[in-house]
Amino acid sequence: MNTITHFINGQEVDEQARYQDVYNPATGEITGRVALASKEKLEDAVAVAKAAFPAWRSTPPLKRAQIMFRFKQLLEDNAAEICNLLTAEHGKVTDDAMGELRRGIENVEYACGAPELLKGEHSRNTGPGIDSWSEFQPLGVVAGITPFNFPAMVPLWMYPMAIACGNTFILKPSERDPSAPMFIGKLLKEAGVPDGVFNIVNGDKECVDAILESPDIQAVSFVGSTPIAEYVYSKGNANGKRVQALGGAKNHAIIMPDADLDNVVDALMGAAYGSCGERCMAISVAVCVGDDVANQIVGDLKSRVSELRIGPGLENGQEMGPLITQQHYEKVAGLITNGVNEGAKLLVDGRDFSVAGHEKGYFLGGSLFDHVTPDMEIYKTEIFGPVLCVVRVDSLQTAMDMIDNHEYGNGTCIFTRDGGAARYFSDHINVGMVGVNVPLPVPAAYHSFGGWKRSLFGDLSAYGPDSVRFYTRRKTITQRWPSSGVREGTQFAFPS
Ligand code: NAD
Repeated sequence: MNTITHFINGQEVDEQARYQDVYNPATGEITGRVALASKEKLEDAVAVAKAAFPAWRSTPPLKRAQIMFRFKQLLEDNAAEICNLLTAEHGKVTDDAMGELRRGIENVEYACGAPELLKGEHSRNTGPGIDSWSEFQPLGVVAGITPFNFPAMVPLWMYPMAIACGNTFILKPSERDPSAPMFIGKLLKEAGVPDGVFNIVNGDKECVDAILESPDIQAVSFVGSTPIAEYVYSKGNANGKRVQALGGAKNHAIIMPDADLDNVVDALMGAAYGSCGERCMAISVAVCVGDDVANQIVGDLKSRVSELRIGPGLENGQEMGPLITQQHYEKVAGLITNGVNEGAKLLVDGRDFSVAGHEKGYFLGGSLFDHVTPDMEIYKTEIFGPVLCVVRVDSLQTAMDMIDNHEYGNGTCIFTRDGGAARYFSDHINVGMVGVNVPLPVPAAYHSFGGWKRSLFGDLSAYGPDSVRFYTRRKTITQRWPSSGVREGTQFAFPS
């Protein structure tokens, strides 16, 4: 039995206590087990990371960046193996796994620029003979808690920059697909990160709570569902930690009557059904402005969704793999049944779908609903599966009001040829990441990623410039060197 343990102080360690099975979602078979850390095991990792901090924070940023350059190269060299691990435990098709890894590597590339990003600010003569500067110092031990849907990319949003900034790090990956983060984490040691600077502790709620309660962890980055994000944010804050907690989503695409509808259908197929809809930036609601647009979009989508190539992710030519677990399969199938009961029109039904030879895999076909309304559960809930809901409205403003009233505000997109409409939309919509004819507007690594409303708790977004601010704290130093022997007298007035 393949056991995925913990990686503490540069060594794999197992406390031989609690474990959870790991599955291949394409076959439903158990392929391994992952260790679930106790509070004590987490504290071991914290102690090691705390001990490693003084030397690491004093290591010149350029030396830290040079390790990141080597790490990037190792990720490129091992890309095929990493993608196999991603597909084996997550189920996503190989091309999609490669896309995920590529976007993760871009964050390592950005972290290679840490010496430039940490340069700080300097002012000469802020007063007579007085110079001031602000520098960005690392926080100490920081932790990252990550979701199942991007087991390579989301951890890479966090620790390359945290470490490049001089922090030491504890990663708690998703217990559902822990092999890729473990493999990648060990490459960091090979790249030259000293033992103790980067540690992986696998686990469940017990481990997360231990992270949130540990007095020596200064900051926590979380990505996952909104209820847990909110929990992590409030508990972490109550315990005095800096927390950024990215949550769930329900991303709408608005299709205007002047849009290039053939391209819209192509774009919607990838954005709604890619990765089986298990992306926080997936488009799950298509808002058609006018019945003519809706009729054409729905007609074209219906045949395309029915023809999706669905199968094991490692097989060539598949467009969509299985869902992550049997439990998630049942949740998504249940929501489809809800939608039918609530009166939405199910045009393509993905339930009762199976792949020959993989009958025990968690395969669900693509589903397409028309005439969805905002009061329905399938509209309100993040389904996180291959289900696209079409909503019909009569104007751009109605579409925007609907989006603004939704609990989530992660991503959105408008398809149009009208620059004025696009500008109005991107200017006014209450959503953090906006696409104009771009269905998945995931910011590049040198911008930052974050939603609005209940899609992000905290002030700073993930990766990019915000991550430099999140993983450091500002110190401002004001300095003068009086000539020796010259008395300058006492001043009781506030210095100005
Ligand atoms: P999840 O919330 O179930 O799990 C995320 C992490 O929290 C995991 O490491 C898990 O072990 C831990 N966790 C789970 N239950 C917990 C509990 N009760 N107490 C403490 N910790 C707990 O999320 P998931 O199912 O792994 O991932 C899918 C979700 O993540 C979706 O909602 C998706 O939208 C969201 N997501 C958001 C973003 C973003 O950037 N906003 C990116 C990716 C995924």
